[in-house]
Amino acid sequence: MKRVYFDHAATTPTDPVIAKTVFGYMTEVFGNPGSVHSFGRQARQAVDVAREQVAQLINAQTVEIFFTSGGTEADNIALKGVAYANRNRGNHIITSAVEHHAVLEPCEQLKKEGFDVTVLPVDEYGRVSVETVKNAIKPETILISIMFANNEVGTIQPIAEIGALARERKIYFHTDAVQAVGNWPIDVKEMNIDLLTMSGHKFNAPKGIGALYVRKGVRLRSVQQGGGQERHLRPGTENVPGIVGLGMAAEKARLGMAEKVRYTTRLRDRLLSGILATVPEIKVNGHPTERLPGNVNVSVIYVEGESLLLNLDMKGIAASSGSACTSGSLDPSHVLLAMGLDHATAHGSLRLTLGDDNTEEDVDYFLAEFPAIVDRLRRMSPLYATRGTAVQRCDSASCKESECEIRGS
Ligand SMILES: *Cc1c(COP(=O)(O)O)cnc(C)c1O
Repeated sequence: MKRVYFDHAATTPTDPVIAKTVFGYMTEVFGNPGSVHSFGRQARQAVDVAREQVAQLINAQTVEIFFTSGGTEADNIALKGVAYANRNRGNHIITSAVEHHAVLEPCEQLKKEGFDVTVLPVDEYGRVSVETVKNAIKPETILISIMFANNEVGTIQPIAEIGALARERKIYFHTDAVQAVGNWPIDVKEMNIDLLTMSGHKFNAPKGIGALYVRKGVRLRSVQQGGGQERHLRPGTENVPGIVGLGMAAEKARLGMAEKVRYTTRLRDRLLSGILATVPEIKVNGHPTERLPGNVNVSVIYVEGESLLLNLDMKGIAASSGSACTSGSLDPSHVLLAMGLDHATAHGSLRLTLGDDNTEEDVDYFLAEFPAIVDRLRRMSPLYATRGTAVQRCDSASCKESECEIRGS
């Protein structure tokens, strides 16, 4: 059976050339970069090259790049690091309702520790307005953390505008750019970004490696102790193979950016227009134009996301959903709810995220299978049978699976 991977926002395959090189940094160049001997020096040199490659991708300086174990750790270091180091200046942090949990949960923790956190709303497309950010600023504001692009709906935030505002008010600006790095051009200087999070496995490097960009001069306290690596900000022996992989992925992304954007945009447009042409009653989620090239997010009305995923999987197609049932929590995606979707529509969401390893054939295979799957699921749906006669919606605040009407028969 054909297998199609449309879940690149969850993770990407490691580039085979990168994987091969990474292997060599486990078996051949395996030294500890902290060692003085030639084995160590060779590893140190590889880390230095990678730091330069990562810096170049976002127009940073090499001293501004700190390697971490991934996006989650980089977000934690950014938020807590800035909060703890700048408490004497103020205790107010601004973020948004559509952030990844790697930002929202550290913010929750900081709140418990006495910080004042404002979580900004978004519009129907998942976008934060610069005006809302401006209005939320207080004399005590020390940090604004707004993601570059959303992992569920692909909406790109007005990062340069928020950056300019933050710089003018002398407030640090962090952006979780995990979904954007490698998929969208980023210039931290031009966009006035003070801290930026990236993760290797979202752009064809291995899992378990990421980086935090920290502009020179930003006051940050380390949240973990135990060694001098990464200038005490992220102690622990460097993940040399991962770092080499991240560097290579960064270089490849920088050189191939324009082509990748063009290619994935074309596939994305073919996929979305194909869906809209063949399946009725589809709601497109996310911003119509300000969105990541590879992201399609739609709600298939009267159908539950989980059933869609299972049926697509039976055809070899990997996708994702903001449905509650797939995430294991009671409520559907906080992102879709923040955008104003009702529970039923959020439950019916389907996320298809494309990479440059996808082909037109992949898209056409999906389009050949999808309408029949939706048709079958809709015919089984009690909501579909009674459509137009009664409004039967799952919008209870605590959407428990057993009570969830749209789970159907
Ligand atoms: C995947 C992701 C993360 C987490 O990155 P890991 O490297 O998996 O820890 C953080 N933020 C966003 C927006 C993501 O998509």
